[in-house]
Amino acid sequence: MRRLKIVGNWKMNGVRATLVEAQAIHAAATQADVDAALAPPATLIAAMATLGISTGGQDCHIARSGAFTGSLSADMLVDAGASFVIVGHSERRDGCGESDADVRAKAEAALTAGLNVIVCVGESLAVREAGEAIGHVMAQIEHSLPLSADAARLSIAYEPIWAIGTGHTPTDADVDAMHRAIRATLATHATLDAAAVHILYGGSVTGDNADALLAIDDVDGALVGGASLTAAKFVPIIMAAARVTANG
Ligand code: PEP
Repeated sequence: MRRLKIVGNWKMNGVRATLVEAQAIHAAATQADVDAALAPPATLIAAMATLGISTGGQDCHIARSGAFTGSLSADMLVDAGASFVIVGHSERRDGCGESDADVRAKAEAALTAGLNVIVCVGESLAVREAGEAIGHVMAQIEHSLPLSADAARLSIAYEPIWAIGTGHTPTDADVDAMHRAIRATLATHATLDAAAVHILYGGSVTGDNADALLAIDDVDGALVGGASLTAAKFVPIIMAAARVTANG
């Protein structure tokens, strides 16, 4: 049985004063017995981790150390108190030119350092409209996943690029079809326990649509951007997870 995971990605938002939001989110998630986590900007990882909430990085370098100005290694994230890292977010794939091979190398570096990993995949609107979404995402999975991973330490986040920050979401049927396809692809990896991998949905998740999305069979949680920045918006998603769990 996979417990739902609700993960917030703060992106380049948040200063020390914003930690009151993380504190309120952690209190609500603990009270509701929901696994919640936040990936703040790196400047806040150490302070946020002391609050007790599962805290992660938004990216890491493939190297352990070296002359890479502005970058952070997975070991540094661990040292700061992170327990996981997001790799392959579309804002890094598209904005920073990261390839599937880069994403795989980052995921492997993170696992080596002891972090859990969330690998993001997802199609553009053009790919979706061409009817190629599932094939595109399967290829990303095939080429971005770490070559050996313990399912308990690996999550996939399916994030259609056109749904991120837009207020648009795929139909429940499309999310269902994609998550089933991802699970089936994972099952072809002989060394991976596909049933144990968390497959999160991301893209304009809010308190209003979270119940329906989280109730889909192969949706094991959510990766949330904008609605994770405040307790007022994130806690309703956590409460949706609690309701879906209670309803079995
Ligand atoms: C994201 O960028 O990972 C994301 C899901 O953003 P939003 O929830 O704002 O669409």
